[in-house]
Amino acid sequence: MPRNPRYDVLFEPVEIGPVTAPNRFYQTPHATGMGSMKPNRSATLRGIKAEGGWGVVCTEYCSIHPSADETPYAYLTLWDDDDAEQLAHTSAAIHQHGALAGIELWHGGFHCNNRDTREPSLAPSGVSAEFTFPAQAREMDLDDIHIFRRWHRDAALRAAAAGFDIVYVYAGHDYLPFQFLSPRINRRRDRYGGCFENRARLLRELIEDTREAVGDRCAVAVRLAIDEMHGDGGITSSGDGRRTIELLGELPDLWDIALGGSLGNDSCSSRFSAEGYQEQYAAIVKLHTSKPVVNVGRFTSPDTMVGQIRRGVQDFIGAARPSIADPFLPRKIDEGREDEIRECIGCNICRSANNEGAPLRCTQNPTMGEEWRRGWHPEISPPATKQDNILVVGGGPAGMEAALTLGRRGHRVTLAEAGGELGGRVVSESRLPGLQNWIRVRDYRAHMIGQMENIQVYLDSALGKDDIDAFGADHVVIATGSRWRRDGLGHHLRMPVEIDAAMSILTPDDVHDGIDIDGDILIYDDEHYFMAGALAERFLLDGHAVTYVTPATSISCWSAMTNEHEFIQRRLLSLGIETRFAQTLQRIDIDTLVTRCKYSNRVSEHPCSNLLLVSGREPREDLFRRLAGSTATRIGDCLVPSSIADAVYAGHKFAREYGEDPASIVPRRERASLQPAVAWRV
Ligand code: ADP
Ligand code: SF4
Repeated sequence: MPRNPRYDVLFEPVEIGPVTAPNRFYQTPHATGMGSMKPNRSATLRGIKAEGGWGVVCTEYCSIHPSADETPYAYLTLWDDDDAEQLAHTSAAIHQHGALAGIELWHGGFHCNNRDTREPSLAPSGVSAEFTFPAQAREMDLDDIHIFRRWHRDAALRAAAAGFDIVYVYAGHDYLPFQFLSPRINRRRDRYGGCFENRARLLRELIEDTREAVGDRCAVAVRLAIDEMHGDGGITSSGDGRRTIELLGELPDLWDIALGGSLGNDSCSSRFSAEGYQEQYAAIVKLHTSKPVVNVGRFTSPDTMVGQIRRGVQDFIGAARPSIADPFLPRKIDEGREDEIRECIGCNICRSANNEGAPLRCTQNPTMGEEWRRGWHPEISPPATKQDNILVVGGGPAGMEAALTLGRRGHRVTLAEAGGELGGRVVSESRLPGLQNWIRVRDYRAHMIGQMENIQVYLDSALGKDDIDAFGADHVVIATGSRWRRDGLGHHLRMPVEIDAAMSILTPDDVHDGIDIDGDILIYDDEHYFMAGALAERFLLDGHAVTYVTPATSISCWSAMTNEHEFIQRRLLSLGIETRFAQTLQRIDIDTLVTRCKYSNRVSEHPCSNLLLVSGREPREDLFRRLAGSTATRIGDCLVPSSIADAVYAGHKFAREYGEDPASIVPRRERASLQPAVAWRV
């Protein structure tokens, strides 16, 4: 299909100082959880973005010196020439497809715990280090600043030698140059502290040093947190953020605008932000610079993108998450296939991987992070050597992804779903407050399945063993999902407790099924991800009084991994939720939940007319058990209840590996290389 001319503007080349981006699609720096320890996976991942049409593809944060060490999180290093040689593979992978390669030089200052390198943490002023309580970060003296500038310059030289086209000065996300800029952190009295011009001095010098180091060969970009999100005490977009652009606007070749404070502000989930959510902060930048500006905003709609350019908000379409969910987003727009974009749902599971120190994973894109390790291309599924007749039972994320990928490989697929629509759990979960974008997991797959003649979908088809036997498939995939437990077993409660048989207990399944609930609700959360908090929000919005009881010490505590934790506390507290923390379930009496404090051992009774348990889930595996002995495989929540991302991955993996020689599907591993034996210092 030809490209829609309405989107032509997105494919115009843009000059960035001495280099030219082939189009306006700009993959801004984002973490992969791979860093310098997984260079093959990391380089291949970036290459795929370029193949998918991103005109600029950047690395994640790249440490310039051992005093910037974020162990156990994965980051790149550019400490020496060996690092540069390794990173040259990434720039080459990006160049292979005609994109520009950007590298984000990074020093985290007091954000660096330096657990591996054991260097002292550095900061503009002596402060507690961010993650290394009770350690402090050391105030840098003028010599330290001088040396720091040399580290940065040396890293810029290595970046150019490694083939990168755009070299970043990173003054975002509370990292060192930003720490100098911020009056909240910088309490110095010398020429690097005090008035705004002094606090901006280091940033100015770093831009000049980098320019001098890379000459006309590379562009110099600045990533700036335009607003610290701490109100008037810090950098605000109407105060020092704007003044930074006014003062330094023409110095770099490009401004990459971000938000400061926690990463949850910059990569805000869809539960708490809409597409283009940063515009109110970034919009002023172009007023004060003639240089190109880029800014993220979970852009997946080409019309919104065109609006950004036409209205002069930015010159590029900045994206991290949309490029993870669909590395081929630009190509699809270019080829008139925008209806095939696998839109990011804004769930921030990708962020959780990084926060757990694990390689990147994505709910929408099961191939993300598997490009090198398993040879999975996001758009190409290799044809099967033998086309089979496969029955997939269950049209949730796992079943849909399995059916789609099996179909792409050429199998004849029948997808049977008990309900009246496809989607499984995402249908009900996307009806919870703020989660409407999650339905994209269903919509993308339903749309693609609908175009394939070799996949037949049957709704309202709850299959039993006899139906399956009669169907006579070569293979049966059971993807019947899971149900929430009614016995309270969850993350903390491992042994069953006494439950009065007369007490009626609700689970999320009952709520999704539309059960009528009158009066106050007590939610006991021993799952700790979004479900209990989102249900609480729904009930509060509906006018119920909600008490939230949990063994944890905050609401939806695992949401710290998706950078939503603070947003959830704020939202639910503002809606009037009552909370009881550190309470483990002891017993359920009639109209009473009995808990014990984890720390004091004090027993509490919580009267409740409606008790909703959000604890563990159990696989809906009855059907699979009845099929024992036949050629059936169970996948997704039916095998092991987990996230939507894990269900999609399970469906994809099954479909990729079905019928393949087991020896051919062993994933490759990155291996640390052996070095010469230790030379003892005696
Ligand atoms: P997953 O996340 O593993 O895909 P879900 O719970 O989201 O699991 O989806 C499971 C789907 O399977 C649901 O849509 C459910 O209606 C469907 N299902 C369950 N049992 C049957 C059955 N016997 N026949 C057809 N579909 C079924
Ligand atoms: Fe988007 Fe979720 Fe994928 Fe992240 S994990 S890119 S937020 S769909």
